[in-house]
Amino acid sequence: MTHTGKCLCGAVRFEATDLPMETGACHCEMCRRHSGGVYFGVQVPADNITYSGTENIGTYKSSEWAERSFCKTCGSTLYYCVTAAGPHSGTYHIAFGSLDDPSGMKMTGEIFIDLKPAAYAFKGDHNTMTEAEVMAMFAPPPEE
Ligand SMILES: [Zn+2]
Ligand SMILES: [Zn+2]
Repeated sequence: MTHTGKCLCGAVRFEATDLPMETGACHCEMCRRHSGGVYFGVQVPADNITYSGTENIGTYKSSEWAERSFCKTCGSTLYYCVTAAGPHSGTYHIAFGSLDDPSGMKMTGEIFIDLKPAAYAFKGDHNTMTEAEVMAMFAPPPEE
């Protein structure tokens, strides 16, 4: 199955295949600032997504391990992409809000739940992870 999407002005568009039909929310401070609220990502391997209008994509290296992108014209949040070497390298977490048709997608998790502002909360039954749990998951394995 193919999903299409675009930024607010349409200068950047994409086609993605075999998307997992799920999204997760991230409450970390970087996602909050980048998205202007809560970031909902949909995980896509680099091979499964093709962007057009790439000259309109601005990227910002937000940490040593990832970059974030936006449309240079309208400012829409486009994706978070892991740049560090390792099993997650090249994985896109595209902005859920950029999908043309998000029907059928389920929210399955929230990460950095301990950083979530008290102003809002999501209903429903889904996994949550604290900052410490997320960091432990992505930490390199201990040396032998
Ligand atoms: Zn745009
Ligand atoms: Zn985040």
